[in-house]
Amino acid sequence: MTIATFIPPNIKDPRLVGRSYDMVINGKHEIAGSGKVIERIAPGHGIAVGEWPDASADDVRLAISAARVAFDKGPWPRMSGAERSRIMYRVSQLIVANVEELALIESLEVGKPISQARGEIDFCADLWAYAAGQARALEGNSHNNIGEDRLGLVLREPVGVVGIITPWNFPFIIASERVPWSIGAGCTVVLKPSELTSGTSIRMAELALVAGVPPGVFNVVTGYGDPAGQTLAEDPAVDMIAFTGSSRVGIHLGAIAARSVKRVGLELGGKGPQIVFADADLEAAADGIAYGVYHNAGQCCISGSRLLVEESVRDELLARVLDISRRVPFGDPLNEKTRIGAMISKGHAEKVDGYVKAGKAAGAELLIGGNPAGSGDGHYYEPTVFQNVRPDMSIAKDEIFGPVLSTLTFRSADEAVALANGSEYGLSASVWSTNLENALQTIRRVRAGRCWVNSVIDGTPELPIGGYKKSGLGRELGRYGFDEYSQFKGIHVTLGRPGRWFTS
Ligand code: NAD
Repeated sequence: MTIATFIPPNIKDPRLVGRSYDMVINGKHEIAGSGKVIERIAPGHGIAVGEWPDASADDVRLAISAARVAFDKGPWPRMSGAERSRIMYRVSQLIVANVEELALIESLEVGKPISQARGEIDFCADLWAYAAGQARALEGNSHNNIGEDRLGLVLREPVGVVGIITPWNFPFIIASERVPWSIGAGCTVVLKPSELTSGTSIRMAELALVAGVPPGVFNVVTGYGDPAGQTLAEDPAVDMIAFTGSSRVGIHLGAIAARSVKRVGLELGGKGPQIVFADADLEAAADGIAYGVYHNAGQCCISGSRLLVEESVRDELLARVLDISRRVPFGDPLNEKTRIGAMISKGHAEKVDGYVKAGKAAGAELLIGGNPAGSGDGHYYEPTVFQNVRPDMSIAKDEIFGPVLSTLTFRSADEAVALANGSEYGLSASVWSTNLENALQTIRRVRAGRCWVNSVIDGTPELPIGGYKKSGLGRELGRYGFDEYSQFKGIHVTLGRPGRWFTS
């Protein structure tokens, strides 16, 4: 069954304007030494909307050395938490003042609905505000119970220069989940956004300068994974790599970091289960399941792309999900009605289609969608639902990163948990049940870092995010996020006359 609610992209929209960006290095705008640029064609419209420098390894080294000097000699790591906090809060306010511009850039470069992009930018202002508040509350510890003649101090110190590498699906959110936590801890940063979606990361660094973040503290280099990202990972002057992206590149960077014993944080892929018990509010669950898999056209690391439903309510639940899938407006990212936008690229839309074809060939039953949409201006894919999926099928195991829901059934909580945990990933999970005891007992057995009860893709700066298993290492957000970017130094203080080892 195909979907009739496609909104064709309006390629005459006056907001389709090409913007040109420079990198931000040591507080200055810089182009690539080679003069080369990367052009971004809006995935929803097929029109050029941005260009930024194609940095070489040498260009990236300039930024690393600016961040190194800013860390070793600059004022930022030595400022009081209160001073850092004031400046960071100004960044949050500047984000609020620029929501429309930032949302438009994000919508055009990623192809996401403009209404969604606005919500995301607002959320980012809140991330910066929370991190600003916490930045002055960071503390170490003391141990007053290790003997009368001894006192222990634990100093929290910044890790140093952090290389942050981000993907294309949520450029502003993912940078806002890492930059304020790292600079809030007193680190300096070189951010390398995805080569596909660099505009808002550059704007973030520009706003940070206006807010008073000193030159060299927050640098942005643009370019391809290799050489730009690879140089960040390999350079010994970088103390830590915080990477968000595919498991393939994450494993590669983890191996590079291991060779030089560099700290590494990895936020990787997922295959989020949504467990629906028969006693769930099925209307709310259906809405959440559709949102969980179609949000950002399914190009979401915490997508709820595996529906695990108790057998007795499968048909009723799926009827509701199909009804939403038939009616959800998808298409032109700049149309205010749109709820599902474009796929990031033609190649990615083809990859999603390949998974759908593989699912059909393996015997899964396609209930709706399963086709590319549009007539050439942009790359779109229909909301797609499968049932009768087996755990060994690729559509049940792999991160498809598209609007494709794979439905499996269970008969007991034990079976639901076994299915949920039967994945190499462990990034996110949802449970839907009106029995809170059952919901909590179930979710505590699921091995995933970001979980919801009767909800999906919810987020708040206070709660940690991160992966179990192949979904990653380390935690972002909340108080925990600051620990990622902190070193802890233990100081043993001797009180009174020091003891003697060799003399009396
Ligand atoms: P990707 O791994 O292809 O690229 C991510 C970033 O890594 C980009 O900036 C890219 O230029 C860079 N990169 C590529 N090769 C590199 C190299 N050799 N050295 C250093 N950097 C390199 O991922 P993507 O396609 O941009 O994003 C999609 C993936 O990201 C999905 O797997 C998704 O699950 C994951 N993701 C995870 C989270 C999370 O929080 N866990 C959030 C968003 C996306």
